Amino acid sequence: MTQVLHETYLDYSDILIRPKMGINLNSRKDVNLQRVFKFKHGQTRTGLGIFNANMATVGNFAISKQLLIKGMFATLHKHYTADEIGQFINSCRQENLQLDNLFITIGLKNIDNEIQKLKDLESKYQWVAPRNICIDAPNFYIQKALDALACVRKEFPDSVIMVGNIASGDICLKLLDYADIIKCGIGSGSACLTRKQTGCGVPMVSLILECADIAHSVNGHICADGGIVDVGDICKALCLNSDFVMAGGIFAGTDEAEGDIIEKHYETSEIQDGKHVIQTKHYKIYYGMSSEYANNKFAGGMDNYKTSEGRELLIPYTGPLDKILQDIRGGIASCCTYIGAVSVKHLSKCATIIQVHNQLNKVFEKYSV
Ligand code: 5GP
Repeated sequence: MTQVLHETYLDYSDILIRPKMGINLNSRKDVNLQRVFKFKHGQTRTGLGIFNANMATVGNFAISKQLLIKGMFATLHKHYTADEIGQFINSCRQENLQLDNLFITIGLKNIDNEIQKLKDLESKYQWVAPRNICIDAPNFYIQKALDALACVRKEFPDSVIMVGNIASGDICLKLLDYADIIKCGIGSGSACLTRKQTGCGVPMVSLILECADIAHSVNGHICADGGIVDVGDICKALCLNSDFVMAGGIFAGTDEAEGDIIEKHYETSEIQDGKHVIQTKHYKIYYGMSSEYANNKFAGGMDNYKTSEGRELLIPYTGPLDKILQDIRGGIASCCTYIGAVSVKHLSKCATIIQVHNQLNKVFEKYSV
């Protein structure tokens, strides 16, 4: 019989972090945003656990480079060739940019080719071991994904391997036999149609709690992927004990995201010199990796047995990425001071989460300039 779980599953908009008196932190400057990650399969990396999504629009060279410069983590999308990545790696080396936190994404379509791509990076560009690998599948529950993971681990025993996506704790232990980081989140992404098209998905807050608990019990790590609307949501994910947070949409309107700025003109109701005043707005295109747009671009069209689980969006242009990265660092540091956490690592130890009905005051939202 179909089982219905009556417990309420919570999302970021259902909770807030309760400020409280704690250890005295006089300034956000005193907060340590770096964390040392000791991974299950032996490697150590240091940084602020924020990733750009491994999507074509934001998992590009320009965004990845900025994240690495700011001490965060980065993923490159799976459609880059070994030579394209190799040239990027070489250009970063010339600038003395640390690449320890760079993840190369591979897909499942032809795992032998993907492994060869990683080996080419090793032999042609001295990308030793291929240090960090992200194995990407919209649905990691399939046997093909599990087999690919085992195979990649066998080929690259010394790499940090991140896999996903999944949306339940039950699969975590199995994945951590080979993987270091599990990417959690199905249906939460801003360019995602999975919940609409399949009815499947799990709200992020409950999912993070469930997966972090299981993964941490065996020294595994998790990455909360999708659904970040504001920097506050990143803070919430970290407080809930997610080790990493991956985001796409919040980076997609920036100069550094793929694609040109699109200009649109709108006629307003305001009249000047007998004519309607024209307002100009700027946008960028953001599309899901399972969208028809992405399938046309990278796979020569949509397979006829599939439905599109991603969409194409025209989202407001937001200017330089640097400002958003500064907001992220500032927001996390400020969150730490509100709850007395001396470092990012301490957020989950210090946080008390409250369930709320009304997260934000939106009364003047439409007047925002
Ligand atoms: P966002 O930060 O925009 O809310 O979510 C980004 C995440 O959405 C990605 O990291 C990925 O997990 C997910 N995603 C990207 N493209 C698609 C898609 O086409 N369909 C679905 N279901 N999820 C997607």
